[in-house]
Amino acid sequence: MADQLIRATAAEGGIRAVGVITTRLTQEARRRHNLSYVATAALGRTMSSGLLLASSMKREGSRVNIRVKGKGPLGGILVDAGLDGTVRGYVENPGVELPPNEQGKLDVSGAVGSNGYLYVVRDVGYGYPYSSTVELVSGEIGADITHYLVTSEQTPSALVVGVFVGADGVTAAGGLLIQVMPKAARDEELVATLESRIAKLSGFTPLLQAGKTLPEMLEQLLGDMGLVILPEVQMLHFYCGCSFDRVLGALKLFGEEELQDMIEKDHGAEATCEFCGDVYHVSSEELAQLIEQLRTESNWQAESV
Ligand code: ZN
Repeated sequence: MADQLIRATAAEGGIRAVGVITTRLTQEARRRHNLSYVATAALGRTMSSGLLLASSMKREGSRVNIRVKGKGPLGGILVDAGLDGTVRGYVENPGVELPPNEQGKLDVSGAVGSNGYLYVVRDVGYGYPYSSTVELVSGEIGADITHYLVTSEQTPSALVVGVFVGADGVTAAGGLLIQVMPKAARDEELVATLESRIAKLSGFTPLLQAGKTLPEMLEQLLGDMGLVILPEVQMLHFYCGCSFDRVLGALKLFGEEELQDMIEKDHGAEATCEFCGDVYHVSSEELAQLIEQLRTESNWQAESV
């Protein structure tokens, strides 16, 4: 199944649900960054979370950045996801591997660390991005994002994310987000029913692994609550907007002296994009052109003074 996002409502619009399948893009991140098993699970869960959070934004071009900074050996995780269905991300120490936890599962919490912070920045494309920070509650990602939703957005919400990765790579990855809309949040019976359903969400990952589709999973969860699955299916992709031009722009910030140094000592420069792992080679000639540009620009500045 291609990576995709679907939206649904239930209880006459009182409940909003979004589901994502992210198997391929998680595998792509694994390949690009040479991720260990546990790093694949941690980054895959965070990328699914980013896509789920971005899905509730309205304005075209909106993006969500998630940074998880725990004290575990994996170091930080950074994910950038868009309402347009694109996502990219990386972890600081992609090679870290840990023995399975007591349940025999990948020890994401051990790798991320349960002490630390989760930063979420929502950028609607103009003005000031809206950011908020919460402490990590488990380091398992899903519970941490749910905690963020409940404390910072004050909507009864639950998010569940899962990644299955084995010797053949990522076999299943995805997530579900369920939120009670403000107009329904006062309906105690509805919230109580939903809470009991959300408790069952832990059954999401086995369903995912069993190859169930998103509509099948939503049906199982909300089928008797007036579930309406919206017909639009949005495709999801690992995508990074980096380019050779952007690399040149970044190199230029080093200034003439440093660039001259790169020409003399290294006969060029090599830059790796942290988000996608793409490597850019910049030749001595291209560096010399950058120096030329810097000189022209400083002449303009001198003239305009
Ligand atoms: Zn990139």
